Amino acid sequence: MDVEAPSRPPAHLAGLSWTNRFAALGERFYTRLSADPLPDPHWVAASDDCARLLELPEDWMRRGEALQVFSGNALWSGMQTLASVYSGHQFGVWAGQLGDGRALWLGEVDTADGPQEIQLKGSGRTPYSRMGDGRAVLRSSIREFLCSEAMHHLGIPTTRALCITGSGLPVRREEIETAAVCTRVAPSFIRFGHFEHFAHTADDPDALRRLADFVIDEHYPACRDAPQPYAALLEAVTQRTAELMAQWQAVGFCHGVMNTDNMSILGLTIDYGPFGFLDAFDPGHICNHSDERGRYAYARQPNVAFWNLHALAQALLSLIGDTDAALAAVEPYKSVFPAALLAQLRAKLGLRDERDEDGELADALLQRMAADRVDYTIAFRRLGAFDTGIGARNDALRDLFIDRDAFDAWAERYAERLRAEAGNDAERAVRMNRANPKFILRNHLAEEAIQQARAGDFGEVQRLLKVLQRPYDEQPECSAYADFPPDWAQHIEVSCSS
Ligand code: AMP
Ligand code: MG
Repeated sequence: MDVEAPSRPPAHLAGLSWTNRFAALGERFYTRLSADPLPDPHWVAASDDCARLLELPEDWMRRGEALQVFSGNALWSGMQTLASVYSGHQFGVWAGQLGDGRALWLGEVDTADGPQEIQLKGSGRTPYSRMGDGRAVLRSSIREFLCSEAMHHLGIPTTRALCITGSGLPVRREEIETAAVCTRVAPSFIRFGHFEHFAHTADDPDALRRLADFVIDEHYPACRDAPQPYAALLEAVTQRTAELMAQWQAVGFCHGVMNTDNMSILGLTIDYGPFGFLDAFDPGHICNHSDERGRYAYARQPNVAFWNLHALAQALLSLIGDTDAALAAVEPYKSVFPAALLAQLRAKLGLRDERDEDGELADALLQRMAADRVDYTIAFRRLGAFDTGIGARNDALRDLFIDRDAFDAWAERYAERLRAEAGNDAERAVRMNRANPKFILRNHLAEEAIQQARAGDFGEVQRLLKVLQRPYDEQPECSAYADFPPDWAQHIEVSCSS
């Protein structure tokens, strides 16, 4: 498709330095192409915080030129647009070549926080689109935009989202919807699947090494000095992935499609599709309607990540040299993940000292919560206000449980544990409120913003973004966003690739 000739960069962008290091890897790794134009685009939403990361000035969104660039209709000079090729295991089965089927890499810019790649999602067909149309609908773009920014402000590693532009262009899904483009930002969009791809392509055996060297040099420089740099890379990715899983589990996030092509080599949350945050605590919760067998159920995520790391180990095997060394590099997952999760749970329970029985204390609470289907986020937030005084009933929390006797028994144990620590309830509450968010992107909140956006009112997307930018703050005027989900939330169905 034709794209406008590169326009003169606006004055403020003339200073942006486009480094485009991924593009320098060579054409083995991607296809150069431009976006399909998005007809008559309009702004849907923008993240001021992500704009600051890119050092885009506050009025950047008002520029018609920016609207065209982030819709895929124009380029700024310095951008080098391309779609990358990767492969992957989907639902445990080797799927062969996949690739950026609807994403377009615009380039990479230097920022004070390090280099950032900018990517359009939903910008039209690429050589990797297979049967897809290369588009994303407004609904899924709003979900990705809001959740990317929500996760960032929760302190969870993630790709970011700069903006969404929309259009009346019809897109066929189960019904006809309209197209949107979400602009994503990350230090790198490289996935486990990129490594799997080059491990499986026989015609250029050196490509895998070039990719691994690139990732080491640009993102894991400490591995260069290790005795076995490729094993060190695998171990570093293992470490970050384990820490990410602990954060997902602790906040009650379900990704929904943990295929190896949706696993970031930097340990970022990537590719928001049918994700969901737990409402009632249910370890077996399946957020992806298409995941009939629950492969990616909430409680399975940590094991799936470990499985995916083995797929990465397999892909790196020819570089690492022997199976034992590759297995040894992923082995630390077994200790790093539980330790990271326990640290998260201690923070959620407000425990400052470390005791052997802490894991058991947390598990006992989670079991009660699962038995009574207690709202995960509300329960932990209320736990922050726990009164350790003798005879205190902690009604706000207690009322969430059906089996009050069982709750009281646990609460007694918890109160004793807290009383044995130095500190007081008020100080602990402040600490716990930094670990237990009040505001998360519940499905029904996203759904309400989407319904209004589909009717042409984008105000709720922007309001919700603002609330989610301060998830740990009380924001009393926004408490409705922290309420229990309405009954209809149980019937929201989200599935892959919309
Ligand atoms: P996902 O599991 O949603 O991350 O997507 C898996 C693969 O399908 C990736 O290679 C995507 O680029 C591709 N894909 C998903 N949706 C579309 C679409 N509408 N058009 C083209 N490719 C798509
Ligand atoms: Mg994907």
